[in-house]
Amino acid sequence: MEQLATRFMDRIADEHPDGDRLRRCLQCGSCSGICPLGFAMEYPPHRLIAALRAADWDPILQDDSAWLCVSCFACTEACPAGIPLTEGLMAGLKSELLLKGKVPGELQTALGNTRRYGNPLGESPRKRAAWTKDFTLPVPLMAKQQGPVEVLWYVGDYPSYHPRVQQVSRSMARLFHSLNVSFGILGPEEQSDGDAQNLAGERGLFQLLAAKNAKAIQKYLFDVVVTTDPHAYNAFRHEYPHLGIEFPVQHYTQFLQERLAQLQPLFRHEMDVRVTYHDPCYLGRAGKSHVYEQPRQLLQAIPGVELVEMPHQRQNSLCCGGGGGGMWLDGFAWEKSQVRSSEWRIEEALSVGAEILAVACPYETPRFEDAVKSTGNEGRLQVRDIAELLVEAINPD
Ligand code: SF4
Ligand code: SF4
Repeated sequence: MEQLATRFMDRIADEHPDGDRLRRCLQCGSCSGICPLGFAMEYPPHRLIAALRAADWDPILQDDSAWLCVSCFACTEACPAGIPLTEGLMAGLKSELLLKGKVPGELQTALGNTRRYGNPLGESPRKRAAWTKDFTLPVPLMAKQQGPVEVLWYVGDYPSYHPRVQQVSRSMARLFHSLNVSFGILGPEEQSDGDAQNLAGERGLFQLLAAKNAKAIQKYLFDVVVTTDPHAYNAFRHEYPHLGIEFPVQHYTQFLQERLAQLQPLFRHEMDVRVTYHDPCYLGRAGKSHVYEQPRQLLQAIPGVELVEMPHQRQNSLCCGGGGGGMWLDGFAWEKSQVRSSEWRIEEALSVGAEILAVACPYETPRFEDAVKSTGNEGRLQVRDIAELLVEAINPD
């Protein structure tokens, strides 16, 4: 068993920048202390490292509570030894559990769908651009564009298929049109970015998706890839380059913040509303991107918006529970922990008197809207994507 535990640690050291730091753990416990679901895990990060050092390999693989890890990067941000805990240690353990077949059924389905259809929802790849059909404004396919565009818009899985998040996609398209930006989407050529699958331990599937996206993206001419989804932004900026795939990328909040001077004169509607902002893990802590100010600057530019902060913000933000495969593990997480982290966030937003919880990640609109209902707060708090609020400020109709 000692050999297997050592081999596991060697693999983390080989596969991840700074992975060798795993051996420098101080056993300070900061990682497990800050972990939102550490209380319900048999092996939160510091205990897992202690067990690996003691070569307790078998008990580690008998337990499946590592699937409670929602890859929120809070432990990685807190670790004084600089250990890649989220993308190295925890994702590495998940890949061992996958090999053993110790995987919750919900996640198996999402991974199977991704392998088969290129998206975790099991939707037809041919219908990836179906949301554009009845839309009043043109959303061109890159394949039909003549010549280069400013923006290749990587729409993403949920913004393409989920009915609630399709509304955000329509807002994004409106914003590109309002700013006179030339843009195109990949449509059926687009595959899942693979970030959540990668952090759920499915490295091979991630590499396959990355290769397919690279092939589609790199045949077109554009200035920048803009993503709706922070998970895609994280994958393209921090993970694809390890596979030799590189292109300029921005999250939409970065792209729009750079064009605030052009956007602001378009605002015609005074909103008169108290808004708080939820920092998504994958714009903040993941990859140490630390994109905290651009979304806030966009919100503060909207006439009549009073931005109030929640106690957990920026590096200290609370995870919505959807990352690293968590989006497909809600039943498992509830069974094991009896908590929903999205509900904590709703209570926190209400505690600062917010009327709107503003978000910038496609996982969050449906997750937080469900949490508003499950906490009995319907009518007290709206969940709106920043793109939707910007469009409303331009044209309330
Ligand atoms: S990434 Fe987040 S959920 Fe996973 S172990 Fe670290 S703190 Fe816990
Ligand atoms: S925070 Fe880092 S150093 Fe401290 S126990 Fe966790 S892994 Fe070890």
